[in-house]
Amino acid sequence: MSLTTQIKEFALDLGYSKVGIIPADSFPEYIADLTNRHEMYSFYSKGMSRPLVGAEPRSLMPTAKSIITTVYDYSQKSFPKELTDKIGRVYQARCYNAPPERINGARPQLMREFLRKIGCEVGDKITLPERLVAAKAGIITYGRNNFAYAEGIGSFIYLASFVVDKELDYDSPTVEVGCPEGCSACMKACPTQAIYEPLKLNPRRCIAFNTFLTQDHMVGSHIEPEIREKMGTKVHGCDICQEVCPRNQAKLKEILPADEFLVKVAQDFSLSQMLTMTDEFYATRIHPLMYNYIKEKKYFQRNAAIALGNLGDPAFIPNLAVAMKDPEDLVRAYAAWALGKIGGRSAKLVLEENMSRETSESVKTEIREALLKVI
Ligand code: SF4
Ligand code: SF4
Repeated sequence: MSLTTQIKEFALDLGYSKVGIIPADSFPEYIADLTNRHEMYSFYSKGMSRPLVGAEPRSLMPTAKSIITTVYDYSQKSFPKELTDKIGRVYQARCYNAPPERINGARPQLMREFLRKIGCEVGDKITLPERLVAAKAGIITYGRNNFAYAEGIGSFIYLASFVVDKELDYDSPTVEVGCPEGCSACMKACPTQAIYEPLKLNPRRCIAFNTFLTQDHMVGSHIEPEIREKMGTKVHGCDICQEVCPRNQAKLKEILPADEFLVKVAQDFSLSQMLTMTDEFYATRIHPLMYNYIKEKKYFQRNAAIALGNLGDPAFIPNLAVAMKDPEDLVRAYAAWALGKIGGRSAKLVLEENMSRETSESVKTEIREALLKVI
């Protein structure tokens, strides 16, 4: 059996749905695109994962000959409705940057171990342009919403690639948009108009970006009020432009078995609970599932406050009043915004009471602006 066949069969046996292979050449088109849109993407291109370096795989691994790329279908089980309103499916599926001790982190580990066992040197810490790699290997096509679509599955997929030092048999590319002609449902449905033209996303307007990249150590924790209003109840990620997509309807309508783990933990993700959760609750109930981008409790609390504000239900004013006493300025500031959004006499009283004893200038500014809205 050829090396290529052995690798592909092993990957399929591991649970990947598709496998493709391309030469480990550079990706000049990706480098040009990221460089041209530097202002929007500087948080990423200058980040620790160094995607501009990874786009030239041989600069990190001079012996690199091939890239093996895989599609993992993370929507093989259903997602509870109470979670999909708040959390993107890829995060619920626990497969995004999964640690090696979890099943979705163990799979790429096993793949690497197998490749080494059959005599390959395997690259480490090479950030590849995964969508472009997969399209060049013929296992996905693009959607106008910027997501990758795998034939027979849709866009609820996770892509992972492995760089090796062996020459293999290469696949034919499908670097093309696979959408029906004239469709722009994703662009119309995006609440923030983040998809400003087909295949072009302004990440800073994207709700997903605003839920998890707005952290102090990344791009700062401020979320523009205009974006807050449009975040709805999202606290980690956003799937709207994938949910409306005709290419995902078959998958979304499929009757899938329940993910018993998600069913069990779904109740932990109530907005009011997340808003005022203790460190222990965060460490034991939220973080073990949401081990992805959000590193600190306060960002979940901020996002829960925004979501409660957007729900506009005065029943949550007591929860927000508790959050107005949180030790974190960030939580108090966004609780104030939410109270202003809900409005009414009770919200106004809570804001006035807290204004008199607030010491943080940033929180006072939010309270002042909220008071202008409740009057
Ligand atoms: S993830 Fe949400 S906010 Fe981002 S582009 Fe899609 S619909 Fe718009
Ligand atoms: S909604 Fe339409 S245009 Fe957007 S990705 Fe899906 S098929 Fe393509």
